[in-house]
Amino acid sequence: MSKVAISSSLQAEQFRISPEHTRISMAAAIELGLKPGRLYRDVRCGCINLLQNYPEGCYANCTYCGLARERPGIPENNSFIRVAWPLVPTDLVAEKIAEREAEVDVGRVCIAQVQDHRANADLLDMTKRVHCAAPAVPISGLLNATTTTDDLLLELKTYGVDKIGFGLDAASEEIFYTVRGRGARGPHTWEQHWDRIRLARRLYGPMNINCHVIVGLGETDCDLIKLFFALKAEQIEAYVFSFNSELGTTMQHVSRQPIKRHRRVQLAKHLIETTDLPESAFVCVDAVLRHANEIEVGGKRIAGTGGGWIGDAAVVVGNVLFDFRYDILVDVWRFPLESSRPLADYALRQRVTTLKKEAPWVKPADMERVLIEELPRVFCRDVMPDHLTKEELRHSHTVGAKLSSSDYLNLHADTTRQPRPLKIAAETFIHSERIELGARKVGISMLVHQGIIQEVRLDTSENGESLRMDDELDGVPFEEWRQRVGFCEKEVA
Ligand code: SF4
Repeated sequence: MSKVAISSSLQAEQFRISPEHTRISMAAAIELGLKPGRLYRDVRCGCINLLQNYPEGCYANCTYCGLARERPGIPENNSFIRVAWPLVPTDLVAEKIAEREAEVDVGRVCIAQVQDHRANADLLDMTKRVHCAAPAVPISGLLNATTTTDDLLLELKTYGVDKIGFGLDAASEEIFYTVRGRGARGPHTWEQHWDRIRLARRLYGPMNINCHVIVGLGETDCDLIKLFFALKAEQIEAYVFSFNSELGTTMQHVSRQPIKRHRRVQLAKHLIETTDLPESAFVCVDAVLRHANEIEVGGKRIAGTGGGWIGDAAVVVGNVLFDFRYDILVDVWRFPLESSRPLADYALRQRVTTLKKEAPWVKPADMERVLIEELPRVFCRDVMPDHLTKEELRHSHTVGAKLSSSDYLNLHADTTRQPRPLKIAAETFIHSERIELGARKVGISMLVHQGIIQEVRLDTSENGESLRMDDELDGVPFEEWRQRVGFCEKEVA
């Protein structure tokens, strides 16, 4: 914002500032007849939102906010939450509120502070003007926690304020620091915000305090779920908003989140607020489905799904990795080449994760309950708890015997055939091949991710040989590995 180098009294004379003037949301201005226009589908605006106005906007510097100190432009011309806020005399607004209230229910008035040394006194003044003109209209104060005092909270009550909001905005302390605190060259701290929120909660009672939370500032779903539970535990309301970048702000180039995510967050908030679901019922990991049957979190496989037909029945299977020991799996795995073992160990750790790591609070029993509840909804079929029939049990024993037979377990033991690649996760394989290296026949194992060789090991006690091959093949497309090392003619059949 442009710096204003004149005294407060001169500012009051030369600029239209609060408390004499207030900014008003365009929807509220239309509702009160202060601006021409009609609201979409003729809906009514049920809350008159007012905002303090000073020549320097707001002293704070939140990276997403149109009023931030370092946003270029004249505050009066700048948008806030992407819409214009006309500037009008506060007394005129109060008068229009009273007139409207006489015709229909205005709903509520909310007066928002910015950070300015005059903001507390001016908020009291503005509240008084509205309350005197329209004493029956409920009023909320949207306070700047950094400057909120005990006295301000107590005095606001005497002017009819029954609800207090705070723009917490960030869902976690880390995000808060980055977008509102020191990381943004701003004055706010997480501790101070919570201190003021809790003080207001004590003074105003349960569900009379709300925290604004913006979804899309870089937080995870997990951060939001934790925050919603924390607010519920203290009987504080969460008001959720969707981040939408504003031109000229630090975050102007950050994309808004997909609408699907916002709906998911809204649904989670609704469930938390209206049911007794425990926090552990929210798996709370950002999982994505890839390649039809791979479910990944943070690019690592956490579950697999599959399906097929048996007669007329569609069979759907799936598994979620709660926990497992990578080392034990690698120890018991039968590899066609011993050099594949360390690569598999490495690849598993790189590309496979577990619920114990991603969401340690989720208990198997909670997951079982969620699945039993969700499956009928997803498949539009009732779940009928039952047992396997004798015939199904017999069949499962037959299949089990086959899978544990030495023939099956030694499928790759045929040294005359090239072994098949071992899949670790989506697009991640261990390829094992036998080649001639000079006069020797050796095995070569390659970790291939998305068609590119990432690591190489040879079945040889000469460590230098493995390293040389690793150097030559690292980053090479798998299709080209033979040409690169000149094995075309020497490959063992
Ligand atoms: S304190 Fe509020 S008004 Fe001021 S910059 Fe931050 S978000 Fe904007």
